[in-house]
Amino acid sequence: MAEKLTAVKGMNDILPADSARWEWFEDTVRRVMARYGYRGLRTPIVEPTALFVRGLGEVTDIVEKEMYSFEDSMNGDRLTLRPEATAGMVRAINEHNALYNGPLRVWQMGPMFRHERPQKGRYRQFHQLDVEAFGHAGPDVDAELILMVRALWRELGLKEGSDVTLEINSLGQPEERKAHRAALIAYLEANAGQLDEEAKRRLHSNPLRILDTKNPAMQALVDAAPRLMDFLGEASLAHFNALRAVLDAAGLAYRVNPRLVRGMDYYNLTVFEWVTPHLGSQATVCGGGRYDQLIEQLGGKPAPGVGFGLGIERLLLLLEALELQPPPAAPDAYAVVPDLAALPQVMPLLETLRAQGLAVVLNGGGGSMKSQFKKADASGARWALVFGADELARGEVALKPLRDAAAAQSSRSLAEAAAWAGELRNA
Ligand code: ATP
Ligand code: MG
Repeated sequence: MAEKLTAVKGMNDILPADSARWEWFEDTVRRVMARYGYRGLRTPIVEPTALFVRGLGEVTDIVEKEMYSFEDSMNGDRLTLRPEATAGMVRAINEHNALYNGPLRVWQMGPMFRHERPQKGRYRQFHQLDVEAFGHAGPDVDAELILMVRALWRELGLKEGSDVTLEINSLGQPEERKAHRAALIAYLEANAGQLDEEAKRRLHSNPLRILDTKNPAMQALVDAAPRLMDFLGEASLAHFNALRAVLDAAGLAYRVNPRLVRGMDYYNLTVFEWVTPHLGSQATVCGGGRYDQLIEQLGGKPAPGVGFGLGIERLLLLLEALELQPPPAAPDAYAVVPDLAALPQVMPLLETLRAQGLAVVLNGGGGSMKSQFKKADASGARWALVFGADELARGEVALKPLRDAAAAQSSRSLAEAAAWAGELRNA
């Protein structure tokens, strides 16, 4: 036998058995996005490498070590499989001058790529829901995005405050961060002996990220570090407090986490994460914030932006851990066809039923009556449509109820299917 080929490490097939949860999530997202007036904007999976280097910042985990970058062998272009969606969204609205007529609220779902060590909840190809609001400067839209995620949790049956909790912080404006950065570097230099290798490397390039360290040996040091919040000016504090006032009024509990800094350089003012206690160290299911300088930085006319990314695999793992399921989706009917020679009589009837909106599964490839009925039962269908030789000879099909033991089998005319199709619809 020829050698069996396998998928790339860390990149997964999504099998039919897992699809119901994916589709449930995707359908729920579409519904919630429409309710808030967000519209689709789908960007390519491959973008110029420079977009991410300039957009995310050179000294970030993603740009330093996680990007799938390659040279286009046809023309030598430097390309990258998108590791996140915001930079591409910004490129697209700049390229199409999409804010010309005013602010824009957009979203997309799709694969992202990061070269990480694969483990549960961390893959090399994973999927995100990405939502962005462009052109709104006020905290109203920050609050709206956060509440929209809460609405999504509620639709899926997740409880805020226990299954998922909200953390927020403010990163202020660049000048405020600069003053804080100087104080932070001075503090870290004074305690240089306690820094690990990564922190030493980032001390002058990206000291804020040191606060985000997962190294337990450095926790005490970072806990006592100068806080960005203490360097925020009046306007930044007002933005943060206005956001808090809306969340408070909406009855959404949150924790202010002064150490929340996020992984990309583009953020300012509001940042937030939704975390869960159920997924070990892959605790963040959704993260986002404001990026008022990014559009300009990527060559657009200055305009504010705010958005978030939600890790779909992590969220589905969470739903699975909590045994949250989509409502059962059984077909209305299952067609049992003892003799495949009858297909020319059978298929037009199935097409009529499906055109009436019914979900009808055809047992493929024949097989014994017994095995066909077993499959009909396992499908969850409420009815078996039995195309036996006797029925077909009379121009009929037998309807056998599979779920209601008290109901009796009966026959219907093949020619008049449109008239009785409604009877089969699942209650
Ligand atoms: P982490 O700290 O866990 O590495 P991150 O800060 O790199 O997360 P973001 O860039 O904020 O993650 O991406 C938003 C969300 O996408 C994350 O909260 C997470 O749910 C999901 N995510 C990020 N990287 C992966 C991955 N490699 N596999 C699966 N999901 C991921
Ligand atoms: Mg990461």
